[in-house]
Amino acid sequence: MMPVNIALIAHDKKKDDMIRFCTNHVEILGNHRLIATGTTGKRVREATDLTIRLFKSGPMGGDQEIGARIAQGKVDIVFFFRDPLTAQPHEPDVSALFRLSDVYEIPLATNIKTAEMLIQAMKSDS
Ligand code: PGA
Repeated sequence: MMPVNIALIAHDKKKDDMIRFCTNHVEILGNHRLIATGTTGKRVREATDLTIRLFKSGPMGGDQEIGARIAQGKVDIVFFFRDPLTAQPHEPDVSALFRLSDVYEIPLATNIKTAEMLIQAMKSDS
């Protein structure tokens, strides 16, 4: 698979899932261009040697920044591990990112099991 642009975002209680996911798939992720919201990206960087472009932290506008990149055609796949059991102060921004993913028909995994299926599809596309 040619390099594509992948966005990584995880709510606080899902960050461990994201780190596990990225660690398990570091080889394939390393073949692509990665962007992330601030804290998620920093945590994944610390746990792996992946190169990741960081945007603002989600609650400070990072979801909106990544949403804008979706609208600009600069994001091809989104891994957004959301916490469905905790109220998020930036819920409107989260919804906007999901909406734009659907507007532009960008593959979007909101939990680790969907993410595993998506990454297997990426692997078999190589
Ligand atoms: P964070 O943002 O990676 O900066 O924590 C994620 C989010 O809460 O949307």
